Amino acid sequence: MDDIIIVGAGIGGLTLGLALHAAGIPCRIFESAAEIRPIGVGINLLPHATRELAALGLEQTLARVAIATEDATFFNRFGQLIYREPLGRGAGYEHPQFSIHRGDLQMILLDAFLARAGHDRLVTSHHCTGVVQDESGVDVHFSDRAGGASLITVRGRAAIACDGINSAIRKQFFPDEGEPRYSGVNMWRGVTRWQPMLSGASMVRAGWLSHGKMVIYPIRQASDDGLQLINWVAEIETPTYRKRDWNRAGRAEDFIGAFADWHFDWLDVPAFIRAADSVLEFPMVDQDPLPRWSFGRATLLGDAAHPMVPRGSNGAGQAILDARALASALLENGDPVAALAAYEQQRLEATTRIVLTNRTNPPDAILREVFERTNDRPFATIDDVISHQELVALSEGYKRIAGYSKEALRT
Ligand SMILES: Cc1cc2nc3c(=O)[nH]c(=O)nc-3n(C[C@H](O)[C@H](O)[C@H](O)COP(=O)(O)OP(=O)(O)OC[C@H]3O[C@@H](n4cnc5c(N)ncnc54)[C@H](O)[C@@H]3O)c2cc1C
Repeated sequence: MDDIIIVGAGIGGLTLGLALHAAGIPCRIFESAAEIRPIGVGINLLPHATRELAALGLEQTLARVAIATEDATFFNRFGQLIYREPLGRGAGYEHPQFSIHRGDLQMILLDAFLARAGHDRLVTSHHCTGVVQDESGVDVHFSDRAGGASLITVRGRAAIACDGINSAIRKQFFPDEGEPRYSGVNMWRGVTRWQPMLSGASMVRAGWLSHGKMVIYPIRQASDDGLQLINWVAEIETPTYRKRDWNRAGRAEDFIGAFADWHFDWLDVPAFIRAADSVLEFPMVDQDPLPRWSFGRATLLGDAAHPMVPRGSNGAGQAILDARALASALLENGDPVAALAAYEQQRLEATTRIVLTNRTNPPDAILREVFERTNDRPFATIDDVISHQELVALSEGYKRIAGYSKEALRT
């Protein structure tokens, strides 16, 4: 009854569990899956998120598996360099930017949570179906799996929905919310074992959405054969899309044509795509920001609260920042209702700005500017197209909105 009930053992739920445990606040995590398996492909953790994970004592563990990303590098579809800037420590941040396999990140969080809080604090095969609250507590209802038989009701001081993009609790609070908003861009994602390219720790963005854009970055240190695990996402404007599902298989034939001529000295893109372990397909969707997340003793966190299009490397990071803010609010307020309201106050507006900016001016706006100003033709020199100051301003503007400008992190 004294526990904070966390629904979902993804990135946000596990980070919240760790942060609450560190604050001495009892919690239990209930996860729908029967077993937590290292699913997904690449994720980026920007310095504001790695700062929080470092505070939880996880930086060294992350550094052993992840890539400390060194630079963001932008090319047009002819392979011409548009802009390069240092990232993480190389850019003067106190904490690194990590590019990591989502499964590696989830397992590091999971192992730390089980070791610190105890194995009995995580319960699998519990799919939340809704919450009911009264003045003294909240009942969280579970079935044995999605659409399965009703299982048990667990009572706690507060319930935190960390159940991702298809959150059951969000649906309970906002039953009339429409379908996710399709951006008009479809994504195909995968990982390929390949030799290190560029700096060996570069985050590459190339091309533009109308003809085909690629995001490419390594997510695991090289193994004995010298190959890294390299994450890639192909993004192309496409009128139709299929329902979002992290595990939906995709086909290279459906998009590889857009990259048929991409033979660069730093990468043969078609060969690289063909060598992928597997291909996943996912529509670039988000949802309109909500007017509120907290309802008495229940609130939303991470993708359940603010699903965003993945154009700023901020999905996982914002869930981590939510977790930190909520743990602090619960530590400062004995009354969970006041704590959840304070958490919403701190995080709702900040994440709303990011959701909206990801639609219009994420970091890849640099590629859009060059695409439009050159009419999608090769340039003689980039300075004829866009000044260095403009490129810096586009990049820095996003950092300020997303809360990881160097000035913001210093304060
Ligand atoms: C299988 C999977 C693969 C992903 N792959 C990628 C990827 O490759 N790249 C990327 O950028 N992002 C990926 N994501 C999303 C990414 O983890 C999130 O965008 C981000 O980290 C925010 O985390 P979150 O904790 O809010 O959500 P998530 O990390 O999605 O975690 C949600 C958790 O809640 C559980 N859950 C769902 N419904 C219920 C329920 N009703 N009751 C109990 N538990 C429930 C889920 O099983 C999951 O463990 C993936 C998510 C999932 C679930």
